[in-house]
Amino acid sequence: MEYFPLFLNLKKKRILIIGGGEVAKRKVFLLLRSGALIQIIAKNICMDLNKLVLQKKIEWISTIFHEKYLKKVFLVISATNDNVLNSKISNLSTKNFLFVNIVDDKSKCSFIFPSIIDRNPVIISLTSSGYSPVLLKLIREKIESIIPFQIGKVVNFAKKWREKIKFYFKKTYLVRIFWEKVFNSIFLNQILIGQKERAFITFKDIIKKSKCQTGEIFIVGSGPGDPGLLTLRALQVIQQADIVLYDSLVGYQVLELARRDSKKFCVGKRYLGKHFSQKKINDLLIKFASKGNKVVRLKGGDPFIFGRGGEELEKIVSSKIPFQIIPGITAAVGIAAYTGIPLTHRKFSKGVIFIHGNDYDRNIFSFLKSKNIAYTIVIYMVKMNALNISNDLIKKKISLDIPVAIISQGTTSHQTVKISCIKNFPDFCSSIHTPILLIIGDVVNFYRKCNWFNLNMSNKIFKKNNSYFSLFYRS
Ligand code: SAH
Repeated sequence: MEYFPLFLNLKKKRILIIGGGEVAKRKVFLLLRSGALIQIIAKNICMDLNKLVLQKKIEWISTIFHEKYLKKVFLVISATNDNVLNSKISNLSTKNFLFVNIVDDKSKCSFIFPSIIDRNPVIISLTSSGYSPVLLKLIREKIESIIPFQIGKVVNFAKKWREKIKFYFKKTYLVRIFWEKVFNSIFLNQILIGQKERAFITFKDIIKKSKCQTGEIFIVGSGPGDPGLLTLRALQVIQQADIVLYDSLVGYQVLELARRDSKKFCVGKRYLGKHFSQKKINDLLIKFASKGNKVVRLKGGDPFIFGRGGEELEKIVSSKIPFQIIPGITAAVGIAAYTGIPLTHRKFSKGVIFIHGNDYDRNIFSFLKSKNIAYTIVIYMVKMNALNISNDLIKKKISLDIPVAIISQGTTSHQTVKISCIKNFPDFCSSIHTPILLIIGDVVNFYRKCNWFNLNMSNKIFKKNNSYFSLFYRS
């Protein structure tokens, strides 16, 4: 982090501004909103600043800058276009342990001014660390468009009730769940449009219903890797979760979408090894939810495709805890899109079959064979069994012409795709990173002409660790 954001209480704090022109004026008007005591050092000042002096809103010392003016000052701002003077002010302020801002000269600043969205008491401060003001402006517009002008009214209401609600619900998590409910309800709109009495009725109603808070479990699919492939519903529940139990396939970018104060536990199982047994996971889900938490069980891809979602669901149903299931894009579907391989095609594939690489019926491979009933077969969890799969395909006399795509870390910026045949693909499997998916069938031939994602990456459109994850996704 090049700059650390802080919110300063400047009430009655002395701020020294050197310069009396338009730039100084802009800073003065901004800082006056904070209740700071502003002192200006300049030989001359502009008319608007002069008016403020006459109204006794700021103090003006008509002189040139001297180190002695740095005494008993909280912040220093230099708004002059004299480079030598600016350097002097910057050096002396640093020497005196003062925060200093030299307008438009980042190298001499110990703090910079952020772009501010002021919906007092909601204040949002943004910066691109001085590198891209245009991008920052776009981000700001996005944020401004989603924050109602009247949001301050809602905060003021909450301020009035904050302590009483704390006292009433006692437990912190109940308090948080209560406010979440309030702000997600019609109450928000009622306050914003000025229907105070109705808002209050809604508020009281939620208090009544919230006293006996029950938890809830959400089984959520997080998609194959690119966080941009999360569903909106998944994003909503992830952001509301108190507890997130996630699998090892879930990427950090998805986890970062959860509330910072939510508790996150990796309950991933290692291949064949029991890292976290299914029973332990089921028990944790029920334990956390029984305490009134919103528990998100976050799984790679879709929870119901080789995700043990069904087993967890059975336990949850028997526990009588309320639950919801949010689907995700399964690896096969996400990867098909990100490799340009259509899983079905009127000419080449009548359907698609998903199988587990360690546990399948080899007869299923006959579906690849006949021209009339050609199907695409997608194999999950192939790494450890690639050689057996290949031998089974050969035993089933599957033509060596049928192409196989081996995809590692699909839909992420590390996506690797190799095209091979049923005899040779195990060699590739051993040399690339997990997770690996196989797509077998004539549709794989589309990769050569329709692959777009790896092309974009090799053209360096995306840097490492970037993804198609939109910058504005959180809004
Ligand atoms: N529920 C998940 C599958 C979990 S099983 C889903 O719907 O996608 C784990 C297997 O999924 C891995 O061994 C691999 O075969 C496949 N897989 C998941 N994400 C993948 C990815 N990004 N790239 C390649 N394969 C992936």
